Amino acid sequence: MEAAQILDQLTTILSSDQINTNPDDLYVASADRYKKYAVAKKVLDVPAPIAIVYPATAREVATLLSFCNENGINVIPRAGMTATEGGLENWKETTLVIDTLKLDKIIRIDPYNSQATVQAGVPLQNLEDELRKIGFTTGHSPQSKPVAKLGGLVATRSIGQFSTLYGGIEDMVVGLECVFPDGHISRIKNVSRRAGGPDIRHVVIGNEGALCYITEVTVKIFRYYPENNAYFGYLIKDVASGIEILREVMVAGYRPSVARVYSEEDAAQHFEDFYDGKCVLLFMAEGPKGMVEAIREGINEAVARFKDNILETVDPKHIENWFNHLNWSQKQIDDEYAEMREHGSHAGYTTEISADWETIPVIYDAVIRRVRTEFDRADELTMLGGHSSHSYINGTNMYFVYNYTINCTPEDELLEYHHPIQKIIVEETLAHGGSMCHHHGIGKYRSEWTEAEHGSAFYMLEKLKQAFDPNGIMNHGTIYPADEIRKYIYREEIDG
Ligand SMILES: Cc1cc2nc3c(=O)[nH]c(=O)nc-3n(C[C@H](O)[C@H](O)[C@H](O)COP(=O)(O)OP(=O)(O)OC[C@H]3O[C@@H](n4cnc5c(N)ncnc54)[C@H](O)[C@@H]3O)c2cc1C
Repeated sequence: MEAAQILDQLTTILSSDQINTNPDDLYVASADRYKKYAVAKKVLDVPAPIAIVYPATAREVATLLSFCNENGINVIPRAGMTATEGGLENWKETTLVIDTLKLDKIIRIDPYNSQATVQAGVPLQNLEDELRKIGFTTGHSPQSKPVAKLGGLVATRSIGQFSTLYGGIEDMVVGLECVFPDGHISRIKNVSRRAGGPDIRHVVIGNEGALCYITEVTVKIFRYYPENNAYFGYLIKDVASGIEILREVMVAGYRPSVARVYSEEDAAQHFEDFYDGKCVLLFMAEGPKGMVEAIREGINEAVARFKDNILETVDPKHIENWFNHLNWSQKQIDDEYAEMREHGSHAGYTTEISADWETIPVIYDAVIRRVRTEFDRADELTMLGGHSSHSYINGTNMYFVYNYTINCTPEDELLEYHHPIQKIIVEETLAHGGSMCHHHGIGKYRSEWTEAEHGSAFYMLEKLKQAFDPNGIMNHGTIYPADEIRKYIYREEIDG
């Protein structure tokens, strides 16, 4: 179907204020923060979608998806637009972006049953603000909280800064509603637990718009006790010795809301005032008073046990102050674009991975060594380091952070810098049995390794795609590898 015909048909499904063909908006809708520098420099190499559409009900989403399914139109679901891995990037000439803008209602806040139901386009910050008024919190606090929306947060299996206490989004989603390409609307009911077969929530959570469209989400909510918050900070010898202490706290059974270790280089970006050229270990405890006191004791015990790893104790005020300024607002995102456009520099890139306790320090050292010795432009790095920010009983994550001076054309920036570094991180992680992707999703730019990530279980992922999206209209190239990876990453000619 031609673009003009598609637009014509759309007017029979939606009203004119639900269809956007503004060229500037379509340009922005062609990519996400993976290509942030190319976006800012106006050198994007991907096609623009035909339109951005704004359904207001699950029924309208169903009609749109059926129409796309019958006519082979690629669909990119979109929420807060903070994606970092290419999940919003468009690789097809015939694409509609289905945005959650009008799915913006907080449907019900139910403090007695500790749950809240919202449409997919509700910004997390809005829900959090409403909950705070009645002394509750979602417990979900990704750095993108001021901008990201519930649909996107569920679709990417996001995680927040207080995850060690509250869990990732997968621990919070009680039930949801989603729409499949054939127009079927599924509602997964809200119960405290059930053993009614496999947990089908997990087919939807983390699908990155490659299987279905999320329209509504019910999440757990928690009582909020900010008056009890306690902060802890230490300068430590190195990353491995900080991870040893994180592990001790976790395996002893304590659940601080935050438990983090920063390399010296990453600490320099965050804790300039006090890091003194050292690695930083920090914790935060929150919740009822008795619980906070128990966690305080647990942290003190772990620190005492590994006292040789500690160089200095940090004033907790520094840690509290840092937390209060950690989240990124839309203004900061816009400022970064302005900086890229006008001065040719950006705030850097990240790749987040996970593994068990003994493997994380091994991967960290292997990656840093390989990047420094094998990456052709290692001399141009202005920053290379990382932090562990989400811990579990059996392991933790590593969030590699890197930046560089850009000495190539904007078109080549990703291929010259971010991708080769990301490749080393993914290769080392997979070689050591870790996961290449802790919380940002696979998007399009880690899809070349999806099969290696899942091994023999890739069979199950493939079957899901075949069952739910047999015509392949959902977010082409996301999670599931597509030919275009050769074109956009390896600059090879491909058909079509
Ligand atoms: C400054 C900054 C800080 C960040 N910090 C964190 C962090 O602390 N923790 C973390 O986990 N992530 C973080 N991220 C990454 C990002 O915020 C998350 O991936 C977030 O979950 C994306 O939500 P969104 O609403 O912006 O979704 P979008 O960016 O709009 O979409 C993300 C993906 O979900 C799909 N999608 C969107 N809506 C739907 C829907 N309704 N149905 C199906 N699929 C859909 C899209 O197609 C895309 O693949 C950060 C990003 C930035 C820019």
